[in-house]
Amino acid sequence: MHLLIATTNPHKLEEITAVFAPAGIEAVGLSLIERQLPEPEEDQDTFLGNAELKALYYARETRRICLADDSGLVVDALAGRPGVRSARYAGSTGTRDERDAANNAKLLAELADVPDARRTARFVCAMCVATPDSEIIGTAEGHFEGRIAHEPRGENGFGYDPLLIVADEPPRDPPRTAAELSPDEKNARSHRGNACRAILPTLTDAFAND
Ligand code: IMP
Repeated sequence: MHLLIATTNPHKLEEITAVFAPAGIEAVGLSLIERQLPEPEEDQDTFLGNAELKALYYARETRRICLADDSGLVVDALAGRPGVRSARYAGSTGTRDERDAANNAKLLAELADVPDARRTARFVCAMCVATPDSEIIGTAEGHFEGRIAHEPRGENGFGYDPLLIVADEPPRDPPRTAAELSPDEKNARSHRGNACRAILPTLTDAFAND
C-alpha cells in the first residue's frame, strides 16, 4: 500500500516512513509523483488548518489518498512564535540547511536574555488525511515538549532539533537535544511520531476499504 505524503522534506518523510512501514504502508513523498505541482500557499493560522489545506489540495490534484503534516516550534516566551511560520521564521531564501541555520540563529538571538525557567517550548505536528473527493477522513496532533538550549548541539534530525532540549527519562547530565537522539529515540517520543501513531488506524481502515 502506497500513501502519498504531502512533503518534499526528506527528514519528515524518513520519520513518517519509520512508523508506517512496519504496518505495511509505504510512504511516498511529492518528489516521487509523476507530475510536479505548484505548492499551495500555507496561509492558515493553525497547524491543522495548513495540514488540511495541503492534504485536500494534493489529494484532489493527484487523485490519491494523501496525508499532510504541518509542524513547527511553539516557544512560550515568544507568545507561541515561530509557530506556523517556523519554516520561514528568518526568511524564505537559500537552501533548506541555510534556512534552518538562519532560523536557529534568530531564535537564539530573540531568547538571548530569557532565563532557563522561561525557555519552555514544544514541537507541534498536525496531520490530516484527505481523499481525492475532498473528504477529510482523519486528523491527529502530536506534541514534543522541551526547552530551548543556549547553543545548538547534535548532528541528527533537522530544523530546530539542535535547540530543543528534551525531557529525558531518566534525566541525563548534560540533557540531550532532539538532535542528539537516535532516529528511533526521536520517533518514539516526538510530535510527528505521536501524530503518526494516532492516525495509523484511520489509514489502515482507508486502505482496507480502498
Ligand atoms: P512545514 O514544512 O511548513 O510543516 O514547516 C515545518 C518547519 O518546522 C520545519 O522547516 C522546521 O523548521 C520545523 N520543524 C517541524 N518539525 C520539526 C522537527 O521534528 N524537528 C525540528 N524542526 C521541526
